[in-house]
Amino acid sequence: MAKKTLHDLEVAGKKVLVRVDFNVPIKEGVIKDDNRIKAALPTLKYILENGGKVIAFSHLGKVKTEEDKVSKTLAPVAKRLEELLGKPVKFIPQTRGAELEAAVNELKTGEILMFENTRFEDLSPEGKKESKNDPELGKYWASLGDVYVNDAFGTAHRAHASNVGIASNIENSAVGFLVEKELKFIGGAVDEPKRPFVAILGGAKVSDKIGVIENLLDKADKVIIGGGMMFTFLKALGKNTGKSLLEEDKLELAKSILEKAGNKLILPVDTVVAKEFKNDVDFKVVSVDDLADDDMGLDIGPDSVKLFAKELEGAKTVVWNGPMGVFEMSNYAKGTIGVCEAIAHLSDAITVIGGGDSAAAAIQLGYADKFSHISTGGGASLEYLEGKVLPGVAAIADKSCGCGCSHKH
Ligand code: ADP
Ligand code: MG
Repeated sequence: MAKKTLHDLEVAGKKVLVRVDFNVPIKEGVIKDDNRIKAALPTLKYILENGGKVIAFSHLGKVKTEEDKVSKTLAPVAKRLEELLGKPVKFIPQTRGAELEAAVNELKTGEILMFENTRFEDLSPEGKKESKNDPELGKYWASLGDVYVNDAFGTAHRAHASNVGIASNIENSAVGFLVEKELKFIGGAVDEPKRPFVAILGGAKVSDKIGVIENLLDKADKVIIGGGMMFTFLKALGKNTGKSLLEEDKLELAKSILEKAGNKLILPVDTVVAKEFKNDVDFKVVSVDDLADDDMGLDIGPDSVKLFAKELEGAKTVVWNGPMGVFEMSNYAKGTIGVCEAIAHLSDAITVIGGGDSAAAAIQLGYADKFSHISTGGGASLEYLEGKVLPGVAAIADKSCGCGCSHKH
């Protein structure tokens, strides 16, 4: 059943608890990349402009010791948010207690406060209250507000107190605009794809992606394989893969996937090899049949790019996870660039790229605006591509059934 979105939620005059993803890189108190703060603005502004009182909160990194609190405070984020919003953001350096409760009760319509890193609660003598979804904590945070909005996709694959805990203790909840977009694009592409639907899988290891491969093989019309994982498949076909990344213990699995997939699965025909995992050594293109024992395949070759581009022709849905090669080094980035180009030339297709490194590659290589959607959720994107239920989303209220009743379904 579809989940309530922000537009379905009454926020006027309400104390709105908003779980955002402000897990930004901070070094010595300076924010190195504020994209996640900017990305939360539409949700926050919508609530403020529609008469809500916002109580915003997020985790920031992992908090394991008392000392971690110094580098993991959200204070600099509150300051940056204030600049971006152009209105005061009251920061409460606590995750609970009298000061926070008083500040919440003093909030007026159109005002916002932020409280401290939710993972400070992981230092509780009773255990990791936030990360283990301690029932007391979710209930307490829920008691601070009237309604709840989850706009943190990156942690939606985890059941924490700040998402599942609160949502289970509050009647009215919704997903924010960022989560809504992720559900629409990834969910839409995987569950109701316009066909032909082509999936592209790459990245480091088969073992990280078994669930994604299996789910997408089931749903897509074609599955293109590149990246480090291609060598386990090539080896399963009896080829010499030299010193390339290989997972011996996944050879049987690769064989059974190859068998099941038949000609749905498309493998590279050539690869860029070097003798060392370095950018400043000689490299060359060889056929996947011609690797020497000391060759290390670090990218797909130009004929593979051509083949993949041809397979992508006419696609109406493309889902991509995992770079085609070691894109971090310029000599081995051409395969990933080539596939980005092929996708950029598709007309009228829904194109989604997800996964931490995959999203980074698309952005770094300059193709961010060529995709319909870049999923920045990392682990959450992967679990969603695997077809798993995301607990942080599942806990949100369902859209009204239309029968006029007021309870959750
Ligand atoms: P994502 O984070 O998008 O899910 P992965 O973490 O699975 O993607 O894979 C990304 C990593 O895979 C990159 O760091 C890239 O350098 C590496 N990679 C891609 N191709 C190869 C290869 N042929 N050999 C070794 N590493 C590779
Ligand atoms: Mg990764």
